[in-house]
Amino acid sequence: MRVALICSAASMFLALGANAQMIVDPSKPLTNKPEETEVFPPQAALPKVVQSPKAFDAPPSDAIVLFDGKNLDEWVSSRGKTPAKWTLADGAFTVNKQAGDMETKRNFTNYQLHIEYRIPANITGEGQSRGNSGVFLAATNGKAGGYEIQVLDGYNNENKTYVNGMVGSIYKEAIPLANPARKAGEWNVYDIVWTAPTFNTDGTVKTKARVTAFLNGVLVQNNFEVQGETNYIGKHDYVKHGPAPIKLQAHGDKSEPVSYRNVWLREL
Ligand code: MG
Repeated sequence: MRVALICSAASMFLALGANAQMIVDPSKPLTNKPEETEVFPPQAALPKVVQSPKAFDAPPSDAIVLFDGKNLDEWVSSRGKTPAKWTLADGAFTVNKQAGDMETKRNFTNYQLHIEYRIPANITGEGQSRGNSGVFLAATNGKAGGYEIQVLDGYNNENKTYVNGMVGSIYKEAIPLANPARKAGEWNVYDIVWTAPTFNTDGTVKTKARVTAFLNGVLVQNNFEVQGETNYIGKHDYVKHGPAPIKLQAHGDKSEPVSYRNVWLREL
């Protein structure tokens, strides 16, 4: 709707792709006047006004709140889509490793996700067995089960593991651009932009998925083009899917479980 308005009411704009990036019409020659590159869309096509909280710890006004500290109503156990069994306490929920992964009831395509996590202060173990969880940005029926951005103890690079499997990585694909992970016991904040892949009718990939991610306000993934679902072994590949839940990982290692809080999402 917004794209249509832009195109019909203001012919100097072009809408490019799903993100509707606007640019000045390249077919018109420029004559060096500043206003030629100044964009004034009609009122209805202006960026949506959204109330933003003063502190960055509450959802914006148009967010879908997936967890506000009170209940797990938006979540199900991935196994059999039964009621979520992770532990709810003190405004957070904690991985229940016996219960397995947990995922949203709702399906999403493109979105901005905010999620906070905490590696417990008493964490033990090492490498991938130290505070391992993860956010599957689309939970699929493929054998890898989706696309994971990693959650793992990574404070000060003290936990040795493969760099494309550390916190902030697109697991086994993309090394994070920085490591702003906080000490075990402190809360970390992920803000993630997910652009879902698109598929042709024959199942082949039309456009690959993309991820931009900030960890504690620091850019860790910059519009990274995902090569496929997060296979633990071997090449990553795509299996055609549509809108999908977001899934949180109950990793099978013996270390103390990770907690999450303040989960919200804005659809794009
Ligand atoms: Mg993980």
